[in-house]
Amino acid sequence: MDLDKVFQNNEKWIEEKLTLDNNYFEELGKGQSPELLYIGCSDSRATAEELMGAKPGEVFVHRNIANMVTSIDLNVMSVVNYAVDHLKVKHIIVCGHYACGGVKAAMQSADLGILNPWLRNIRDVYRIHKKELNAIKDEDKRYDRLVELNVKEQCVNLIKTAAVQKASRDTGLKVHGWVFDVHTGKLLDLKIDFEKYLKDIMEIYHLD
Ligand SMILES: [Zn+2]
Repeated sequence: MDLDKVFQNNEKWIEEKLTLDNNYFEELGKGQSPELLYIGCSDSRATAEELMGAKPGEVFVHRNIANMVTSIDLNVMSVVNYAVDHLKVKHIIVCGHYACGGVKAAMQSADLGILNPWLRNIRDVYRIHKKELNAIKDEDKRYDRLVELNVKEQCVNLIKTAAVQKASRDTGLKVHGWVFDVHTGKLLDLKIDFEKYLKDIMEIYHLD
């Protein structure tokens, strides 16, 4: 990608916005009040705003390899706490995607250096769901299923946090698990039973 083109694109984008609304950037500069927190994969194909048709100011975004919510990752935990406690988002979405390189790497035996501890969290998801996954003979289908189960487990990790537990009680915050199908462009709702997980989890992980 030509970097000069990036700046040309930016000028074009500014022009387009100002044509539609002369005060567009004045308004944008006033602040943000997004209702959604999107936690997705860093994969260049799984863009956050574009696939949802969201505009600047509408979605607070965090992306990392394989859309992980790890309790000792200061980065994702800061994003979650800021979004929930300060921005008061109404929904948190964990969005995985089929053909995820991070999930694929976790299915293989290879020493990937610094990535090992990161991918180990996905291997843990495999271990938890080993029976179901090993019963799927088709490797591509097993891979797709691990993508889905990984999204579910990251939703569960969100529900384990004090911030999410408090906000679900006080403001009705909801957690959703989605998968983006890069082969069709379709966004799929895994329809995670948030209330059920919350109830189950609170038994052990109740923090507030
Ligand atoms: Zn990915």
